Amino acid sequence: MDNRQIADRLDALASLLELADANPYTTRAYRRAAETIRGVELPIAKLVKSGRVRELRGIGPGIDARLRELVETGEIAELAELERELAPDLVGLGRYLGLGAKRSIELARALGIRTADEFRQAAAEGRLRTAPGIGPKTEARLLEALAREPEPRPRRALLLNRAWELVGAIAAALDGQTAGDARRWRDACEHLAVVAASADPRSVLARFAALPQIVAVIEQGDRRAVGVTVEGVPVELLAPEPERFGTALLRATGSPAYVEALEPLPDAPDEQALYRALKLAWCPPELREAPFRGTPPPLLEPEQIRGDLHCHTTWSDGRASVEEMGRAARDRGYDYLAICDHTPAVGAVRGLTPDDVRRQADEIAAANAELAPFRVLRGIECDIHPDGRLDLPDRVLAELDWVQASVHGGQRMPRQELTKRVEEALRNPYVRCLSHPKGRYINRRAENALDLERVFEVALEEGIALEVNGLPDRLDLSGEHVRDALRAGVQIVCSTDAHSVRGLGNMPFSVATARRGWATPERVVNTQPLEAILNRRRAPS
Ligand SMILES: [Zn+2]
Ligand SMILES: [Zn+2]
Repeated sequence: MDNRQIADRLDALASLLELADANPYTTRAYRRAAETIRGVELPIAKLVKSGRVRELRGIGPGIDARLRELVETGEIAELAELERELAPDLVGLGRYLGLGAKRSIELARALGIRTADEFRQAAAEGRLRTAPGIGPKTEARLLEALAREPEPRPRRALLLNRAWELVGAIAAALDGQTAGDARRWRDACEHLAVVAASADPRSVLARFAALPQIVAVIEQGDRRAVGVTVEGVPVELLAPEPERFGTALLRATGSPAYVEALEPLPDAPDEQALYRALKLAWCPPELREAPFRGTPPPLLEPEQIRGDLHCHTTWSDGRASVEEMGRAARDRGYDYLAICDHTPAVGAVRGLTPDDVRRQADEIAAANAELAPFRVLRGIECDIHPDGRLDLPDRVLAELDWVQASVHGGQRMPRQELTKRVEEALRNPYVRCLSHPKGRYINRRAENALDLERVFEVALEEGIALEVNGLPDRLDLSGEHVRDALRAGVQIVCSTDAHSVRGLGNMPFSVATARRGWATPERVVNTQPLEAILNRRRAPS
């Protein structure tokens, strides 16, 4: 068994535990372990056999035992049992109908059925009401939802990284292309779609239905199908004739409002040809939200990013050392990386005291001796106290190359108070950038009440940049807010807020979010060379 196969089994276990409504920490631990294993070059099976696998990050005794079982027997008993018990396609359909995993399984047992198809059949025969707990009202609701199946409505949007991963894998397996919300890099994706041109659509549809990601096909036409994933998320597949691929791709990419304004669309084999036929310049998918027929500006490109200005190390809650992060950033082709660990007021995790900051300076100097001419910058992610004071004294901040100011606790402050708090911090002469300004977590926490218009004014006066945080559950500023910031004349920074070497790979999410806000490279601080970054240090007045 190679590392990829082992990681796939752990991911499968995580998915099924998720379906079984297991503790989310457990499922996350399995997913993280799978991720670690995919990134390791040594054969995991060997590490397991020699008893050294726990030296890897995130692999504790529980996961060690599962890995041992998998390597020794070729299977994980619990996984096999869950696969038998859970009938993923049935649970997937249940999710889609708004039933929890346990309820789906109870229902299936009571009805003596095992698959999604048998469930549909039982419903059609009016047998649902024979199951305990299903009254006429519930039955009517389920029947109605089943009748609506061809027009699936996802319950919860997927985060961008998960959407890319899921749709990207399906597209790759079918030699197709990612379309839908992910191709527009929407911060939360609801419409998931793949377009795969084919003269033989039946074989593409058959391959789609057989994919491990698709647990049930809920609609099938000649050149179109909708499948549901294990999370109950619908994915649309389109298999147009090759000479219509461009037209199908544009339509499936959306947004609906953008597409509608271009209709009627001629048939075209690719998007370039389609835009030419419309006598329009090709439009990057990130800009296809509101109707637009103009010529797009030269947007920021990922390769124009010269360095990452926000990341963490083992000094706070990161998983890699200063040198490991620096080396990884250099390997990505960057010229610089700012280490911005937390300060003590962050609370939940370790934060750096003034003493720590100075000790970290030695480690950064040592890393720079190794990595030159690449430059590791001395930075900090400094908490903003509720009264607007910063969590480190000015004399410490004055030593640093790059200071991010961040609100962590107290996001729910009323608008005026929060805005005053942030404004106070931005007036500090050492602060360069405001991190994740709106404090949202996609699907979990709404944006805070911060008055961005006021923040833009202060940022402009003080020469402060605003961050576009690339963590997939943050993406903060959002595309819309980037656009507002740029209109106000404020500069932005594209950062990953990486907590691991792998986390540095989230830069495309930040860049795409900036592009959705129409960012051009000269408006983005970290397209500039190192000297320009260092020159942003403001002399204390
Ligand atoms: Zn933060
Ligand atoms: Zn951070």
